[in-house]
Amino acid sequence: MTSNAGGQKTLKDLVIVGAGPAGSICAMHAAKIGLDVLLVDKAKFPRFKSCGGALSERTKINLGPKGIKSINCQSEGLTVFSPSYQEADYEGEECLNLVVRTEWDHALLVDAKDAGAETLEETMVKDIDPKKTFIRVFFKDQDPVKAKYVVIADGTGLRSYKKKLGFTQPYEYMARTVCAENPIDDSILDHHFDGKRKIQLYFGVVPRGYGWVFPKRGYLNIGIGFSNQETPPINQFEIFDIFLASLKKRGVVPENFDGSTRKTHPVPFQKPFDPTGIGNILLIGDAGGFVSPVTGEGLYYGTTTGRIAAETIHEDIDGQLDDELVTIYKEKWMEDFGDDLINKGLPLANLVYKSVRRMELLVKMMASDEDTCKAAAEMIIGLKSYGEARSKVYRRAPISVLKSLLR
Ligand SMILES: Cc1cc2nc3c(=O)[nH]c(=O)nc-3n(C[C@H](O)[C@H](O)[C@H](O)COP(=O)(O)OP(=O)(O)OC[C@H]3O[C@@H](n4cnc5c(N)ncnc54)[C@H](O)[C@@H]3O)c2cc1C
Repeated sequence: MTSNAGGQKTLKDLVIVGAGPAGSICAMHAAKIGLDVLLVDKAKFPRFKSCGGALSERTKINLGPKGIKSINCQSEGLTVFSPSYQEADYEGEECLNLVVRTEWDHALLVDAKDAGAETLEETMVKDIDPKKTFIRVFFKDQDPVKAKYVVIADGTGLRSYKKKLGFTQPYEYMARTVCAENPIDDSILDHHFDGKRKIQLYFGVVPRGYGWVFPKRGYLNIGIGFSNQETPPINQFEIFDIFLASLKKRGVVPENFDGSTRKTHPVPFQKPFDPTGIGNILLIGDAGGFVSPVTGEGLYYGTTTGRIAAETIHEDIDGQLDDELVTIYKEKWMEDFGDDLINKGLPLANLVYKSVRRMELLVKMMASDEDTCKAAAEMIIGLKSYGEARSKVYRRAPISVLKSLLR
C-alpha cells in the first residue's frame, strides 16, 4: 500500500475507481496504449465477488494473458428447464467458459499491472470533484490525486459521489440475486454431472428471472436472480432455499452442498443507466448498468465498456474526437452492442419473462425443434445477437409451436 496515492502533485491521465473486471480491463487497455493510469480498489485482492462466473467466448478478445489462463473450465453445453421441468438440451463445439471470480478478478488485476497500470488496493474512494482543468479524487486515509479523466467501475450501488455528480440507478432497473459457490471434489461433481461441466438454467423458479447450476472444476455454483419489477410473496433467501432443496431432492446436486454460504447482491437487469458519463467522467460495467436484461450477463459488457472507455479517452487526449467525450463513448457502445441489447434484447426479455406460461412455451419450443433450440442456446451463450436469435425463433415459431403441442 502506498501512502502517497499516485503521487499527489502529479496529474494522472486516468484514475479508475474499482478493480473488478470492468476496471481492470479498462486499466490494462489504457496502459497498453500509453496512458498514465491509477487503478484503485477498496478491497485487497484476491477478493470475493458474488457471481455465476459464466463467461461468453466473445469476452476473450478483451482479456489479457492471465485473464485467459485463469479460466476455470469450459462448459460442454447447457440444459434449459421449463417451469414444469421440460428439458431442452444443447451441446455445441463452443459453449460458455466458467471462471471462479476470486481467482479470475485477481488475474485481471495482475494483467493491468503487467501492462503498466499503477494499482492501489485497500483504498476506498470517498469523493470525486471535477474542476475546470482536472478532477480531484479523494480517498479514505490517503492524500487525494488529480486526474484528467476518471472512469467509475465501482459496480452496483449509487454511492454518494455518483449521486452528487448526477448519476442515477433506478430501482426498477435492478435485480436481486442469491448465489452460493462452494469447493466440491471433482469426483463428486463427475458423479452428479455425468463427468461433464454442463450448465443448467431453470425458468419458473423465480418470477422474471431464472435459477442456475454451474458445475466448474473443483467448484459448484448455484443461484437465483430476478428483477425488482416483481415482488414475490417470500424473500430471495427463502426462494433460494426452496430451489436448493428441490435440486437436492431430485439428486441434481450433492446432498451436503452447504447453502448457508449464500450471499445476496444486486445486479442491473434492464438497460444502461442514463447518463453513462458526465464531462470527463465515464461509467463502465455494473456502475453504468451494462448487463443483459435477458441473461444477466455482465462480464462481456463490463469488459467491453472498459476497453471502449480506454480507447475513447485515448482519442480525446490525442485530439481525435470531433464531439464531446461522453457523446462519442455512448455512440461507440451503442454501435458495438447497445442497439442490440436495448432495442432487441430488452423487448425479448419483456416477452419471455412476462409469465410462467411464456417461459414454459419457450422451453417447449426449444425442446421440440432443433433449430429453435440452437438459435436460443447460441443467444444465451453469446454466439448470436438478440436480433438474429429473435428472428430465427420467430420464423420457426409456426413449426416449433406445433411440434411442442404434439409432444
Ligand atoms: C449473483 C450474480 C451472478 C452473476 N452471474 C454472472 C455470470 O454468470 N456471467 C456474467 O457475465 N455476469 C454475471 N453477473 C454479473 C457480473 O457479476 C457483473 O456484471 C460484473 O461483476 C461487473 O463487473 P464490474 O467490474 O463492473 O463490477 P464489480 O465486479 O462489482 O467490481 C467493482 C469493484 O469496485 C470496488 N469498489 C466499489 N466501491 C469502491 C470505492 N468506493 N472505492 C474503491 N473501490 C470500490 C469493489 O471492491 C469491486 O472490486 C452476475 C452477478 C451476480 C450478482
